[in-house]
Amino acid sequence: MQTVVAGKAMKRLFFALWPNQVIRRQCSRIMARLPEAELRPVAASNLHVTLLFLGGVNAGQQAAIAADAASLAVSPMRLTFNGLSYWQKPGILCLTSNDFDQQVTRLSEQLATIVVRNGVSIDERRFRPHVTLARKARQAFALEFEPIVWRSDDFCLVESCSLADGVEYRVLQRWGAKGLSAMSK
Ligand code: ATP
Ligand code: MG
Repeated sequence: MQTVVAGKAMKRLFFALWPNQVIRRQCSRIMARLPEAELRPVAASNLHVTLLFLGGVNAGQQAAIAADAASLAVSPMRLTFNGLSYWQKPGILCLTSNDFDQQVTRLSEQLATIVVRNGVSIDERRFRPHVTLARKARQAFALEFEPIVWRSDDFCLVESCSLADGVEYRVLQRWGAKGLSAMSK
């Protein structure tokens, strides 16, 4: 999905940690216990941890940002998602963590430096790792669950695509300890 601003095609992008099938299933199992009638659950295929939201980026900026991102050293990261939080302003229910490797924050900060250097302005709010499970939430929901241990040794550049039936996130590129893995798009 592209938006054209001042003659330049823009993509809506963000950096994220992407779940494997096991983690996705663990998140889905928690989602299945939420009161669906009062919420809009996130599609399982869209579950992720945002590292940095970029917003609209043109092709030249995307290429430069990707080249810089490829130079980052990525070490394995662990986040234990042990809370279910209600964030009133965005109206979401999300998994939150008070036990995660500082490497995750560091990666988010390094990406912010890269993005700003390439002329994209970002939200200066403190990084708080979370996995959005549902939108349109109006209240907190108490739930006991086995903490989800999310391990990752790579991060992704993702495109947010607005489709007729909702948003779809597409992984464009992935970088990790083993180097760059090109995606289909
Ligand atoms: P929509 O905005 O259409 O409801 P969405 O929020 O699912 O859909 P995007 O707005 O494209 O999709 O956001 C992509 C990801 O980036 C989501 O995880 C979202 O929570 C996060 N995000 C969006 N805006 C910001 C922001 N200003 N700061 C931090 N994270 C953001
Ligand atoms: Mg949004």
